[in-house]
Amino acid sequence: MDNALRKFIEDMPKVELHLHIEGSLEPELAFKLAQKNGVTLYKDKEKTIPFESAEELKAAYKFDNLQEFLDLYYRGMSSLKTEQDFYDMTMAYLTKAKSQNVTHTEIFFDPQQHMENGIAFETALNGIHRALKDGEEMGVTSKLIMSFLRHLPETAPEGVERAYKDAFETLELAKQHLDKIDGFGLDSSEAPFPPAIFERVYEEARKTGKPVMAHAGEEGPWEYVRDALDILKVDRIDHGNHCLDNEALVQRLVDEKMGLTVCPYSNLRLNHTTDFATDTKLTDMKQHPIKKMLDLGLKASIHSDDPAYFRTDEGKGGYMTENYLAVAEALNLSRDDIVTLARNAIETSFMSPEQKTAKTQELDAYTQRADVFQKYVNQVGGEQARTA
Ligand SMILES: [Zn+2]
Repeated sequence: MDNALRKFIEDMPKVELHLHIEGSLEPELAFKLAQKNGVTLYKDKEKTIPFESAEELKAAYKFDNLQEFLDLYYRGMSSLKTEQDFYDMTMAYLTKAKSQNVTHTEIFFDPQQHMENGIAFETALNGIHRALKDGEEMGVTSKLIMSFLRHLPETAPEGVERAYKDAFETLELAKQHLDKIDGFGLDSSEAPFPPAIFERVYEEARKTGKPVMAHAGEEGPWEYVRDALDILKVDRIDHGNHCLDNEALVQRLVDEKMGLTVCPYSNLRLNHTTDFATDTKLTDMKQHPIKKMLDLGLKASIHSDDPAYFRTDEGKGGYMTENYLAVAEALNLSRDDIVTLARNAIETSFMSPEQKTAKTQELDAYTQRADVFQKYVNQVGGEQARTA
């Protein structure tokens, strides 16, 4: 890739809208927390073979599909016990984000999984929230989105013994902390759990006045994207890739200026199925649909999803800059495409109109400065060329 474009991407102010904070837990930190808390991280679901080192854990980050990833992701989360653990994990992410010029981030957390691990809702919430407040002092503004786990029911069957809280119970807990929670999402295994089974809890969640969103069209079909709009009445779609399978839906998303938070390394590492009919998998970033999405006028943007798990070929965490660089390189994106992606993220964020205007101005000013600098380089280059 052109060095100027690389530098432009690295230094560009960015907005992240699709990040699971538990997915930012780097193997080194997961291992450190597990040791501190006396938790064993296991290689297998049956909990027979423990990981011996962070390196071994990192080496296990190879997945064939979403479920394989989720199995390890939930095991990694078990290392988190105290409020300070949640703070440390969130602060590590914010520090990384800041180093990549992320100026605003909207992050998910999965309280149902923590509660299943015996951690109080407030322990997770307060640790993350305290870090987000400190992050604002560092210049990274944020929103915190509580996600429902779609493999757990909206309402648990009566009389059945269980370790988990259902979606309605979790929403009730969230309602006591609406000063710290800025919206509601839906994540975890998508395919067997269509949006319709969460209709009632979404209706209730929307009554809080907070925005709602849902993962849709990642491993599920385009109909899940439509149902997330019609049944859950979402304000934003997470992933949404399979909307491309239905022209009328694409047009509707364009007309409604609906945000789609796309995650390239996540799609690549989970062998995203691009065509259900032929079972074609995304195995090379060159096949990623983000350029097509932009050309169709969709408000798609780039995010990292679970950056500690979806790593680059060199083994680096796949954070915002890595995701931008990967698609820019593979799809030969222009600088205008990059700016459009960044602009789409600002426009489809849940920031206030004033904040959005300020972020847009910041991006415009950055682009203009880069133009002036490039002109200067060209001139100097030209001078040197003449005197040589
Ligand atoms: Zn996600």
